[in-house]
Amino acid sequence: MAAYSVSAADLQPETTELLQRLVRFNTVNPPGNEREAIEHLQAYVADAGFETELLAATPERPNLVATLAGHSADGPTLVFLGHVDTVLAAAADWQHDPWSGDLADGFLWGRGALDMKSQVAAEAVAAVTLARAGWRPVRGALKLVFVSDEETGGAVGARWLTEQHPDRVRCDYLVNEGAASPFELDGQRYYGVCCGEKGIYRFRLTAHGTAGHASMPRLGDNALLKLAPVIEALAPGSSGYDPTPAALALIEALGEDPSDLPAAIASLRARHSALPVIVEPMLAVTLTPTMAGASEKINVIPARAWLKVDTRVPPGLGAEVALARLRERLGAAAAGLEIEFTEQVPGYASPHRSELMDAIERWLAAADPDARAVPVLLPGYSDSSYFRAAFPDLIAYGFFPHRHQTLFESAPLVHNADERIDVRDLGYAASFYAALARELLG
Ligand SMILES: [Zn+2]
Repeated sequence: MAAYSVSAADLQPETTELLQRLVRFNTVNPPGNEREAIEHLQAYVADAGFETELLAATPERPNLVATLAGHSADGPTLVFLGHVDTVLAAAADWQHDPWSGDLADGFLWGRGALDMKSQVAAEAVAAVTLARAGWRPVRGALKLVFVSDEETGGAVGARWLTEQHPDRVRCDYLVNEGAASPFELDGQRYYGVCCGEKGIYRFRLTAHGTAGHASMPRLGDNALLKLAPVIEALAPGSSGYDPTPAALALIEALGEDPSDLPAAIASLRARHSALPVIVEPMLAVTLTPTMAGASEKINVIPARAWLKVDTRVPPGLGAEVALARLRERLGAAAAGLEIEFTEQVPGYASPHRSELMDAIERWLAAADPDARAVPVLLPGYSDSSYFRAAFPDLIAYGFFPHRHQTLFESAPLVHNADERIDVRDLGYAASFYAALARELLG
């Protein structure tokens, strides 16, 4: 076993090099154009002995499935998942060109340096390093699944792959994005392990009135004015909590009382002003008005005015809870309002206690003995949910451990200018993936 032991320092140079290469493929989605990046990864892992296959809904946007079969097929399949597309970048706002992969000040700069070409590179280098050294799973299989099209919903990426080719990507354990950098609370370091993603339930609210000439305001019945109390009611605030077991376990792990969530959040705020901003959405339905419209003419009093509300619901809960929380928050402001769903996408979660969590905790105990792993939920969506929906027994977590770049340093850079990663964290993360493969597959 010791022959396959690889350190963060061993893995860092190659992970850095691969990430630079990946950043230099412009895979801004839309349109994505992920083919060259995916083919580069295919050649890289095939060279080390992985069996590879490209599966594509459209030729320019393939997905890579690479398999390292074990000595015995009778065992679990572990998937390292990653997407190679990115959101856009406005080069003028950056200190380094977003497709340069520049190394400066100890960081690797570029779009995708955090979300999530870095994790793809770390997963690939870990797996390739083991394979090159002759390692094969004792039982089961290790798969790398690198997909296109995460940033716009996976219609030709993970969603397509799990719906059209479930047999190629079926797995027992999956590690994806969703949590990465540690945070400190009262001097204790915590690593989030993302156990689930919230569902998306979007509303369109319409107020009705009577049209009229804008020059005589009392002539009509202005629908737009009726949205004022509605918008005010949706200012950030609590509409009560709908916690999942993972969210309650997080509160407890942070030293707060999960049976009194308002008090727990207040206490957490006193200990760390920024942490509740991230933690509170894990515990509750969030209701955020984002788009509105009314009259199409400046001189016409609108007979209709609409407001769209982006609503995120903890995994396991659905439309009824979203609607109940919306009505509760609106109160009297809901009178006369037409309420309809425009989108309903359930969230999914994996149990927060599992063999995969045990393995993560064992790795962390060796890599960063003073730190603790804690379950977290992703307020947004990720490809993990498509896999959980396709394979109900799957344990899927988001975990891309950093040691140096903290949560409050990296989170503001995701989807933003100057996205960059501390290069020491590339080796650190890669050493986790290598250790995990050996831990779960032998
Ligand atoms: Zn991502």
